[in-house]
Amino acid sequence: MQSFAEELEQLRAQGLYRSMRVIQGAMGSRVELDGRPVLLLCSNNYLGLADHPELKRAAVQGAELGTGSGASRLVSGTMELHQRLEARLARFKGTERALLFNSGYAANTGIISALVGRGDAIFSDRLNHASIVDGALLSRANLHRYPHLDFDALEKLLQEKGGKGRRLIVTDGVFSMDGDIAPLDRLVGLARRYDALLMVDDAHGCGVLGATGRGCAELFGVQKGIDIQMGTLGKGFGSFGAYAAASGEICEYLVNTSRSFIFSTSLPPAVLAASLAAVDLVDSPEGARLRERLSSNTALFKKRLADAGFDTMGSETQIVPVFVGPAETTMEFSRALLERGIFVQGIRPPTVPAGSCRLRCTVMATHEAADLVEAADTIASVGRQLGVI
Ligand SMILES: *Cc1c(COP(=O)(O)O)cnc(C)c1O
Repeated sequence: MQSFAEELEQLRAQGLYRSMRVIQGAMGSRVELDGRPVLLLCSNNYLGLADHPELKRAAVQGAELGTGSGASRLVSGTMELHQRLEARLARFKGTERALLFNSGYAANTGIISALVGRGDAIFSDRLNHASIVDGALLSRANLHRYPHLDFDALEKLLQEKGGKGRRLIVTDGVFSMDGDIAPLDRLVGLARRYDALLMVDDAHGCGVLGATGRGCAELFGVQKGIDIQMGTLGKGFGSFGAYAAASGEICEYLVNTSRSFIFSTSLPPAVLAASLAAVDLVDSPEGARLRERLSSNTALFKKRLADAGFDTMGSETQIVPVFVGPAETTMEFSRALLERGIFVQGIRPPTVPAGSCRLRCTVMATHEAADLVEAADTIASVGRQLGVI
């Protein structure tokens, strides 16, 4: 039997070894890493809410009610704050109801494995997040993965597969490693035509996209056509946790059948209070200003990279991949940037397909324009040294 140490050595040899970097002190658009200040260019804290004074104040107040909820929701772990946050999220999303989950990962595995099972069919974009794939595997339904955004291929699968069971089409709203957006209007049409449920994972869109930050569904004006809108509270909202926004019927079904909902201690009050403050903030004029700032920061950064000759892989959002290719070069790129005060992660298999390694840059509303220009120029200078451009 091969030892774990040997397997780790193999990962190292393939340039696929992973390790964690530690941030000292506070979260922000600049952080201290290994005792040095760096520009943070790989956080999903897109609106900069993770260290916003109002969220911190709310969390402290929430903690006055206790540090833990003490039980799962169906035992004694449902506090008024859970109900208030769910009602606020439902109002924000314009759905009958919303149900909290402890994380986006727990939401996807718990929702998908509850809604479909043996004999049912799941149709999933090839670039969907790992938690969707894991939910699909856990469900034991037949998993049909279609090429990225290839809706002709999806339609063919819908015609040929599925049989009499339930059908679920599931997609990322914003693809987490590419930053492109699924055209939800077309998916809504296909779901209707083939009598399938449609679930959208809006981890990177909620709070950020759409005229009022309600996410991808708002961007396409299809809030009513999506059966389950899953969103996370740990990214754009700067807090922690996740939700399913759906009909009362679906939420009630999930309460009764979703194992990650039933068998896990519920979110603690400090987190719930911070999330409530976050939704209020996202839904306020300050939220609108932050979204405008995020959008102009993104445009500035992306243009500067494109002008330098980089391939940003069709990104339409604040997630800006810089295509590199091989794993080794990508990691060297990221190391060189860190030496120059820019913290950005290289993304390798199995997160992305082999040969499509990239730097995954993420823009924040709280970045200074001058910092982004400087960062893009530094990326260009290292990119030239490494022969990427
Ligand atoms: C981050 C992410 C998740 C998981 O959410 P967490 O709250 O971090 O567990 C799910 N789906 C997508 C697309 C993500 O990017």
